[in-house]
Amino acid sequence: MSNVVISVKDLVKNYGAFEAVKSISFDVYEGEIFGLLGPNGAGKSTTLEIIETLRAKTSGKIIVNNFDIDKEAASIKKIIGVQLQTSGFYPGLNLVELIKLFGGLYNQSVDPIELLKKVNLVDKAKSKVKELSGGQKQRFSIATTLINHPKIIFLDEPTTGLDPQARRNLWDLIKEIRNNGTTVIITTHYMDEAEQLCDRIAIMDEGKIIQLDSPEKMIDDLVANGFERPKQVKAANLEDVFIQLTGRMMRDE
Ligand code: ADP
Ligand code: MG
Repeated sequence: MSNVVISVKDLVKNYGAFEAVKSISFDVYEGEIFGLLGPNGAGKSTTLEIIETLRAKTSGKIIVNNFDIDKEAASIKKIIGVQLQTSGFYPGLNLVELIKLFGGLYNQSVDPIELLKKVNLVDKAKSKVKELSGGQKQRFSIATTLINHPKIIFLDEPTTGLDPQARRNLWDLIKEIRNNGTTVIITTHYMDEAEQLCDRIAIMDEGKIIQLDSPEKMIDDLVANGFERPKQVKAANLEDVFIQLTGRMMRDE
């Protein structure tokens, strides 16, 4: 049996008269990459920010690592890592200085170079955030989620706007973080990303969870129900061509 590390029960969020999240329930297991997949406006960020204790819920019950969000939000904050927008980072500081600053805020002693190694940014240690490419910025912001050695990290659309190489590099990084024992909860509106990356996904639409399972199981169920793709699918797609032509590795360095 897998350990439940996040339990969400009958979560509701209303913005005035508008119901953004309509009584959703799901569990996240320890050590998995759990995806909230859905179109813009589905309620993914709202759900994530409520679990992160950054937004108040209307009703429902949320337990994170055995802490009840209504009574022990401070304990939850200590064991989670939340990705911040890199635009909010102090512009005058380089990556090492920023990590030291965050370490101080979290009251954690942290080795900045060791952390930058994990996200493949050691050679940018003395650079400022504005000097990084899009993929590097995302890797740096993921690094900042790891400063307090969290049990769970939350990533809200970490690959939106990145080119194919940078996306794949980020997928590798996120899998590595999971393999090192951290539970990852991620939102995305990319189907291929959810299929590649997530152990289980909840598909959200208009504030509801309409399906929850592993990507393989969902695809198998669809095929078992008689679904067939309308035409023969080629063994590669244009993205494969692009990756072959331009190279798989770290073009955003
Ligand atoms: P997603 O992350 O899936 O795109 P969001 O959780 O950001 O969706 O938003 C869900 C719905 O709630 C959207 O219709 C959005 O416009 C609305 N919404 C989000 N934040 C607010 C807010 N602070 N006030 C009012 N409506 C909001
Ligand atoms: Mg969102």
